[in-house]
Amino acid sequence: TDLNKIRNFSIVAHIDHGKSTLADRLIQETGTVKERDMQAQLLDSMDIERERGITIKANTVRIDYAADDGETYVLNLIDTPGHVDFAYEVSRSMRAVEGSLLVVDSSQGVEAQTLANVYHAIEADHEIVPVLNKIDLPAADCDRVAEQIEDVIGIDASGAIQVSAKTGQGIHETLEAIVKELPAPTGTLDAPLKAMLVDSWYDSYLGVIVLVRIMDGVLKKGMKVKFMSNNTLHHVDRIGVFRPEMQMIDSLGPGEIGFLTASIKQVRDTRVGDTITNERNGTPEALDGFKPAQPVVFCGLFPVDSAEFEDLRDAIDKLALNDASFSFEMETSAALGFGFRCGFLGLLHLEVIRDRIEREYNIELITTAPSVVYHIHMRDGTMRELHNPADMPDLTHVDHLEEPRIKATILVPDEYLGDVLKLCQDRRGIQEDLTYAGSRAMVVYDLPLNEVVFDFYDRLKSVTKGYASFDYQMIGYREDNLVKMSVLVNDEPVDALSMMVHRDRAEMRGRAMVEKLKDLIPRHMFKIPIQAAIGGKVIARETLSAMRKDVTAKCYGGDASRKRKLLDKQKAGKKKMRQFGKVDIPQEAFISALKMD
Ligand code: GDP
Ligand code: MG
Repeated sequence: TDLNKIRNFSIVAHIDHGKSTLADRLIQETGTVKERDMQAQLLDSMDIERERGITIKANTVRIDYAADDGETYVLNLIDTPGHVDFAYEVSRSMRAVEGSLLVVDSSQGVEAQTLANVYHAIEADHEIVPVLNKIDLPAADCDRVAEQIEDVIGIDASGAIQVSAKTGQGIHETLEAIVKELPAPTGTLDAPLKAMLVDSWYDSYLGVIVLVRIMDGVLKKGMKVKFMSNNTLHHVDRIGVFRPEMQMIDSLGPGEIGFLTASIKQVRDTRVGDTITNERNGTPEALDGFKPAQPVVFCGLFPVDSAEFEDLRDAIDKLALNDASFSFEMETSAALGFGFRCGFLGLLHLEVIRDRIEREYNIELITTAPSVVYHIHMRDGTMRELHNPADMPDLTHVDHLEEPRIKATILVPDEYLGDVLKLCQDRRGIQEDLTYAGSRAMVVYDLPLNEVVFDFYDRLKSVTKGYASFDYQMIGYREDNLVKMSVLVNDEPVDALSMMVHRDRAEMRGRAMVEKLKDLIPRHMFKIPIQAAIGGKVIARETLSAMRKDVTAKCYGGDASRKRKLLDKQKAGKKKMRQFGKVDIPQEAFISALKMD
């Protein structure tokens, strides 16, 4: 395809502002999909995506558009994930395109993720076309929102397109703007192949499918290519494009976006951001800035029913095939039996994987407290990584501990600034910067990642009513006074509940934990002490008093069927319990106890 007839773009938006609906409309208006095959949200394929309205994996579609100037253009839309956990993937896929549609709900205005996402687009040097969506709503206020885009984001919004993705109004204008306002890609045809690996996923028929953007040269069926990050060679057996269903073609040239298959077995062998070139006489220079995404949050996943361990292994193996940033190894816990220690990009990533195991594979799980990776510096001068608080070595051998820190950037309307500063301060943050952008404050904090992985994002959303945008990057490790807090139920340590905490916050966390557990653990026939301890020292304690009577006692001599029902109920309840010594702890106790508030 002639480079001048190609436009590559993504859509950036806050959640629910209409990104998927707009994409559907663009596909529909251009006749890419026949009317009868049209279903809502074509690009959001996974169940969880549909339900939560978040896009997790980048998706793409190639649209042919016959423009008003009489020419036919190829428009490639790449849909990017919209969450901070996947920030690395967002920033990479943005580099595969030249422009973005910035979609803002004209009845709501600029919101948290609008900012976080548009900054990725600005960083990737995109030309940006503002689109004011939902103009069919009575509350739509295009002038106000256009002004806000100019004030807060600092881009010209005078030419913003007014659209209703619902009624179809403004869709034609949007397609024309894509052609007229967005730049054509550049690239050299007779150069060695240089292609960016934008995304990859597993397909049960074709194996691993690799989404690529060709920078220079030509990718042809049958050729041998090299992945530059790990120097692996592959024989390209298929090339195609998404319309949005797959269509096989013979080659892709500069500026084009499509996919290849090459009998690759695992997604792990493909790295987002990698450069693909010819096997011989390839490009001398890889695309810059490549770094594989590293898991930063670890937790244990255990089956509630220990008989399901093999099923869990199977589910995890399958999910890992399709997700290079998800890591796992087997783990045994005295309390929870056999399970896996898993690594994730962040909390949402963790939740998504856990949900998929529970939903798609029907395995009920116990999830232990999320933990970051600590560096343990031993007395003998060696350093160990700690992924699991349960593996904390004897303190007599430990010299000091280091924890990962992040640089967090938060944008927030002025009226919530005080609450945000307090939240960051409470989480052991060090303020680095505070500036203003219009009526918004931008604060930069140096924070321990440990304090962010639990529920920082949720808290931030709640104290700012969803009006803050948050983004972070890792900045390295720093020493601090960190200790392992253990939890004992009936004098037995429950390793799944142990966690690393800052010494100054240990009492508070310990107190909160034992108080919660006291409410969550059902009463037994005997008194149960619940304690939090550091080393051998108890820092918080509650006692669960004994139950007075057998639950069936009041039915004594009475209705036998009622008595049986009660016993059945107890039995059913048991299935979801875990026994610790003589004490049964319900599954919900683990989940709730590990949430902070
Ligand atoms: P996304 O999260 O940005 O992908 O947003 P969706 O495309 O899923 O849209 C969120 C909600 O807004 C859905 O219920 C859509 O039906 C609705 N919606 C999208 N565009 C419009 C519009 O132009 N007008 C109205 N009234 N609703 C819209
Ligand atoms: Mg969507």
